[in-house]
Amino acid sequence: TQIFSNKVALVTGGSRGIGAAIVRRLARDGAAVAFTYSSSPGPAQELAQAINAAGGRALAIKADSADAAAVQAAVAQTVAAYSGLDILVNNAGILLRGTLDEFSLENFDRMLAVNVRPVFVAAKAAAPHMKEGGRIITIGSVVAERSAFPGASIYSMTKSALVGMVRGLAIDLAPRGITVNNVQPGPTATDMNPADGPHADIITGLVPLGRLGKDDEIAGMVAYLAGPEAGFVTGASLTIDGGYLA
Ligand code: NDP
Repeated sequence: TQIFSNKVALVTGGSRGIGAAIVRRLARDGAAVAFTYSSSPGPAQELAQAINAAGGRALAIKADSADAAAVQAAVAQTVAAYSGLDILVNNAGILLRGTLDEFSLENFDRMLAVNVRPVFVAAKAAAPHMKEGGRIITIGSVVAERSAFPGASIYSMTKSALVGMVRGLAIDLAPRGITVNNVQPGPTATDMNPADGPHADIITGLVPLGRLGKDDEIAGMVAYLAGPEAGFVTGASLTIDGGYLA
């Protein structure tokens, strides 16, 4: 049997990038995986169809993370479709840049609405469905520890917020045997941070291993945290960054 046979996962923002890699990995290892998307219905449906055609179980759910009712409904739909919920991965996130003089209050609110608030909303909705051994994992970022470039203050703030939230949720849910952890990727090749983007060379130059991370590598750390071996890891923020913070 596979490691996640009989497990149900929900991944937010699973249509592209790191989230899609997490969906593929958990499905490959036997989980039934629901995932949300917002503005990429095509890639979302293709991903779900590919997994189902290969004998896996996947379900794409449209749910804008900024809409709390939609996030709650996605949790409910997952539980209804697959009879439970064991693993929640809060991956959906956006990167809006701007220095203090440029960054608008609207964008500040938008960043919190997509990167922070739905992590609370989803955890609150999901935890009551989880049994002992449940897993809540968030995707933070190394920017919680090193902002590095101008114009990243609010993005960095949202990822730092996750560090604190995960510590607190880990303590709250520990009596029920549910672990809560945060994965902090360094620069990873996705649409958000393209390997052929204008700043890719500068960014790669800051990574001792001399390359961007791969979405599958981030998914591997998520799979570890989601699995039974990680039962004693909770409240942690784990870095996977090619040495960027070293
Ligand atoms: P991408 O931009 O490539 O993908 C973002 C994903 O999030 C998409 O599936 C997108 O779905 C979804 N998403 C965005 N906004 C919303 C929303 N409002 N509601 C629901 N889903 C949404 O980003 P990455 O894969 O690079 O990033 C994934 C996570 O990893 C983010 O939290 C990011 O901050 C973090 N991260 C990324 C790093 C990198 O270098 N790439 C480094 C460190 C952390 P859709 O298109 O359907 O809206």
